[in-house]
Amino acid sequence: MSKNLHSLPADTLIASSIPPESERRYQQLCAMRDDLRQRLPQELGALASSDDMRAGGDVVDMALGATNEPLHIGEVELVEQQLCNVDVAIARIQDGTHNQCEDCGLPISKARLNAVPSATRCVKCQRESEK
Ligand SMILES: [Zn+2]
Repeated sequence: MSKNLHSLPADTLIASSIPPESERRYQQLCAMRDDLRQRLPQELGALASSDDMRAGGDVVDMALGATNEPLHIGEVELVEQQLCNVDVAIARIQDGTHNQCEDCGLPISKARLNAVPSATRCVKCQRESEK
């Protein structure tokens, strides 16, 4: 029934611990997370909601049809990977470490964080990790 609601983090509680200067980025990341979740195929929620779908098929079909275009396996993995990155970035904002490179510990530039809100490494370390 409402399993999805229970698995959502309590955003209202978390939001109060977000430093004001990070709040915009936090909102941005939450929006990205929601967007990515909607792009994932039904399979993640299907197990929990298969009974609901049978009961209220029309509503569910319309909701899914609006946001879910078929994705290839590789694309699903990519979206899941991005979703994971966004979750990590959100957790880092909550920890107050989001602008710290996870590899070298130096600050990540504001320009980079603005361009890639889910970045967890500075440009230099990101390049290293992609080699
Ligand atoms: Zn670094």
